Amino acid sequence: MDNISPEKRSKIMKAIRSKDTRPELLVRKLLTSMGYRYRLHSRDLPGKPDITFKGRKKIVFIHGCFWHAHTCQGGRVPVGEYWQKKLNANMERDKANNQKLIALGWDTLTLWECELNDLALIEMRLRQFLGKSKAITSQD
Ligand SMILES: [Zn+2]
Repeated sequence: MDNISPEKRSKIMKAIRSKDTRPELLVRKLLTSMGYRYRLHSRDLPGKPDITFKGRKKIVFIHGCFWHAHTCQGGRVPVGEYWQKKLNANMERDKANNQKLIALGWDTLTLWECELNDLALIEMRLRQFLGKSKAITSQD
């Protein structure tokens, strides 16, 4: 066990979690401005993916570096068995969900929180992944 008190731990987790929603909002705004239409947290799909493009059969995940244990600076796992277990479980779950979605015929793209500093690049990657936007396709 690590030596952080439960109260302190839940405080830390809260702080991190609320920060975690910002990257998703950023990407949603970007997608809207690009003319794409999407659904959020589709309950009928494994892992309730962040952003779903039904007509295109594409899914975009926005991963917070901490919670999804990215290999960057922000994804460093804190010392202690608790975090190692928790973040490992998150990573395994991500992997399993991704495989299920692919098996169901979906294409997935994962964007990391730390990559959102370069929105021009993100926009390019989204366009490449999703194809033409609303103006031309009629579905989704
Ligand atoms: Zn990262």
